[in-house]
Amino acid sequence: MTRLYNDPAAFAQEAVEGFAAAHARWVRTVPGGVARRSGPVPGQVAVVVGGGSGHYPAFGGLVGRGLAHGAAIGEVFASPSAHRIRQVAQAVDGGAGVLLTFGNYAGDVLHFGQAAEALTAAGVPARTVAVTDDVSSAAPEETHRRRGVAGDLVVFKAAAAAAETGASLDEVVRVAELANSRTRSFGVAFSGCTLPGADAPLFTVPEGRMAVGLGIHGEPGIGEEALPSADQVAERLVDRLLAELPDGVDRAAGQRAGLVLNGLGAVTYEELFVVYRRVSRLLAEAGVDIVDPEVGELCTSFDMAGLSLTLVWLTDELERLWTAPADAPAFRKGALGDPDDVPDAPGLVRDQADVPEQADVPDQAPAVPPLPHATADSRELAAEVVAILDTVLATVDTHAEELGRIDAVAGDGDHGIGMRHGATGACEAARDALGQGAGAGTVLDRAADGWADRAGGTSGALWGVILRSLGTAIGDTARPRPADVAAGVTGATAAVMRLGKAEVGDKTMVDVLVPFAESLRTATAAGHSLADSWDTAATAARRAADATARLLPRTGRARPHAEKSLGTPDAGAHSLALIVRAVHARLAERPVRT
Ligand code: ADP
Ligand code: MG
Repeated sequence: MTRLYNDPAAFAQEAVEGFAAAHARWVRTVPGGVARRSGPVPGQVAVVVGGGSGHYPAFGGLVGRGLAHGAAIGEVFASPSAHRIRQVAQAVDGGAGVLLTFGNYAGDVLHFGQAAEALTAAGVPARTVAVTDDVSSAAPEETHRRRGVAGDLVVFKAAAAAAETGASLDEVVRVAELANSRTRSFGVAFSGCTLPGADAPLFTVPEGRMAVGLGIHGEPGIGEEALPSADQVAERLVDRLLAELPDGVDRAAGQRAGLVLNGLGAVTYEELFVVYRRVSRLLAEAGVDIVDPEVGELCTSFDMAGLSLTLVWLTDELERLWTAPADAPAFRKGALGDPDDVPDAPGLVRDQADVPEQADVPDQAPAVPPLPHATADSRELAAEVVAILDTVLATVDTHAEELGRIDAVAGDGDHGIGMRHGATGACEAARDALGQGAGAGTVLDRAADGWADRAGGTSGALWGVILRSLGTAIGDTARPRPADVAAGVTGATAAVMRLGKAEVGDKTMVDVLVPFAESLRTATAAGHSLADSWDTAATAARRAADATARLLPRTGRARPHAEKSLGTPDAGAHSLALIVRAVHARLAERPVRT
């Protein structure tokens, strides 16, 4: 149970504010997340880490000398948006380029990838490294599909320690990739976590049982066993990691390894020590020298009762980086002296009383370009677009809990929250643009930014792309004909497939987008009105969404739990079908003049 929160939707932001206030000697809030209090380090590659909230000390707690320069922080379990990531990177860029590193989840890959492209285009060379340490999330031949869990720390630390030595961006990327390729984690859990405001855990484990192979988002495990003793848990974890040595490590005996025994939130430190007692003996028996073990909470999942073991098989270079000093709010190693000896970032007011206020500074919008000229016709249409977006928000609101429940079956349970955040952001941005006299295309374009930025996550990035494509197709001058709207939807579908790389049959929203677009195209081409065509297409969308229940996911967060999702539709497919049906109701009631 997460008991202490105010408005659940504000949980992530309020946690960051309190964290920064408590650790003002180390960090400062910046738009999009937190950064070292001391500001950019000139000439040094900046390491920006990040991900959703709910994993403390990942990610803000790992910001400090010898570790990350900044952390981009998303909503609960949702990746930060590309916009937030860019803002944090710009706040810490020291002129030598930026490494963006994060756990390998679809939403993070999309947003960090977009941010890297935008930064590079703006003259800040940026690269990405996604951490893939979790052995239970894909087979050894498919390590690129594995997710990142507590091994994040190992990769972040190696990259940051290399950056501290003045290494170039290429070098820092090489080291991060090397650390990632030699890091493996495996976890078990005894109970699931409950998100702020939710009244049930994302998953449950029967009394006296243990789930094996958990993620850090309450994604269900890949197996279940009788509850073992602490020693047996230690044996299970060590056996699994010794069974899969990375390339370049032929045998465990004689190797040196860094180690993280990570508590996921509701396992006590003393329980971890009891487990570690046996882990250390088993590894010693296997001939492995453990270097600087970390036993504690390094990457959590709210109140999930579980733990994971991470090993990084060290080379001489990786050992130097693993043991290098670091001084972050939640991770210290060696002696770096008093944090107060490092000068403040220019202009920083570091007074306890000022911290919350400073944290209140809202994400600054990017330099908003002036509104393109719009015809009176398009401005009139823009008002109708805003009303349709209100309908989308109302639909998402009504179904938020149901969407969360569906996503929790095989995903991470945040789809309802994400869609609500996104639709809210879209409506606000759209209304704002309308107030300034924007045409329909620009209103949709601003709504796209509002959605992606507020929601984060996979669906946030993809809904941003959908709205942006529609905006481009509709433009700010003419009133589109029904066939133009259909062409816009077809273009949006193609853009989603280009960015997300999912195809029909992968059990994602693409399974609904494709038949919806096709049906809209056929109906409008046959000369039907927009409302009638949309009606037919929404019916096709519903049918397609229901049919996803019979599919196995092949991409996205739900993929490792493929079988679990049989019989349940895809969350993003279902929400899309609900939304297009609601939009039809609005179109039927107040037809849009075309
Ligand atoms: P996250 O997966 O980051 O938690 P959400 O829960 O909000 O994000 O959205 C999950 C939905 O996103 C899935 O149900 C699926 O419909 C959609 N999705 C995930 N990955 C892809 C992809 N690669 N292409 C298209 N849609 C995807
Ligand atoms: Mg999700």
